[in-house]
Amino acid sequence: MAGDALPVAEWVSDYDVSQITIGVVASHSSLQILHGARQEGFRTLGICVGEERRKMYSAFPGADPDEWLILDDYKQMMDYAEYLRERNVILIPHGSLVEYLGPKNFQILSVPTFGNRNILEWEGSRERQRLWLESGGCTMPRVIEDPKDIDGPVIVKYAGAKGGRGYFVARDFRDFRRNVDLEEEFTIQEYVLGTRYYFQFFFDPLPEDGYQVDGMGSKKGQKIGRLELMSIDRRDEANVDEFYKLGSLRDLRDMGLEPSFVVTGNTPAVLRESLLPEAFRMGEGAVAASMELEGAEQGMIGPFCLETIVTDKLEFRVFEVSARIVAGSNVAVGGSPYSDINEPGISTGQRVARCIRKAIEKDRLLDILS
Ligand code: AMP
Repeated sequence: MAGDALPVAEWVSDYDVSQITIGVVASHSSLQILHGARQEGFRTLGICVGEERRKMYSAFPGADPDEWLILDDYKQMMDYAEYLRERNVILIPHGSLVEYLGPKNFQILSVPTFGNRNILEWEGSRERQRLWLESGGCTMPRVIEDPKDIDGPVIVKYAGAKGGRGYFVARDFRDFRRNVDLEEEFTIQEYVLGTRYYFQFFFDPLPEDGYQVDGMGSKKGQKIGRLELMSIDRRDEANVDEFYKLGSLRDLRDMGLEPSFVVTGNTPAVLRESLLPEAFRMGEGAVAASMELEGAEQGMIGPFCLETIVTDKLEFRVFEVSARIVAGSNVAVGGSPYSDINEPGISTGQRVARCIRKAIEKDRLLDILS
């Protein structure tokens, strides 16, 4: 797996661990990451392109970084790796960092990074995600290989589609044929009708208490770390969320409209409590299976999100996994009905910084970095 040759241990051995700086690209979930890092006593560094982005942070003094690295292009980060290491920086990755740098650059960026960046190779492909999650005991929406087998509503996802833009829903084969762009690579999934919940979990391999994940495969019989539920959100998606107000799918087509799934924001959610054991079972399975993936020496570390739909039979379908902090965790910057029970007001950003602080104290930084 790419990236496994990175000399993280060497970089970290040159670090002054009493002077760690938490670095983050100023976007996505950076406010809570910066704020949380400061609460745990770290110096912070923001990376951005252009002064305008920096100005916004002055509106949030609790998160405004101690230091800025202002670039002309995010890809310049590749040339600033040594500069960042000289400042004892640990980077906290999020979706925007990976998108701005490109997955390949991200995997070879020569700066210690929180979590396991090699898991990206599994996260980045729908087929591999399926292998991973199903081996962890999660049920995913059925995939329809041959469009002629479409026998109910389906969602068609183009390979290059980002943030749900460009997906479409088809009722049957004729509908699919009329709307599909055969030039593009796509996957056809059964459209799962139900309620969406996006679980923001945190897996910490260091503690030996709490909800311990049972290992599988090569780790069978071992307790491999603590799983926590930080928060749950639901994404606001334009225009599908409001579509029903205009009538049926057929009425909408007559108006020349197609539903789109573009994320515009997030709303906090809580799950019917009797479904929580199943949510934990899925989270546990995803973590345990991540340790067994080909080449994934470390497995999942830190925040991750299972994107699910619960049907009216109270069955979960997991349609996607994100192996790092998701922007949906921003609904819980001041805590959530779940994280508050364990520690009032803790955000996922602060939880990341806490994990780093504890790892420094236990001299186990290498267990949580890549
Ligand atoms: P994704 O890009 O896979 O995160 O999907 C974007 C959005 O499409 C989700 O947030 C859901 O609203 C919707 N969606 C994705 N897959 C399905 C599915 N199999 N059934 C119903 N809705 C889905």
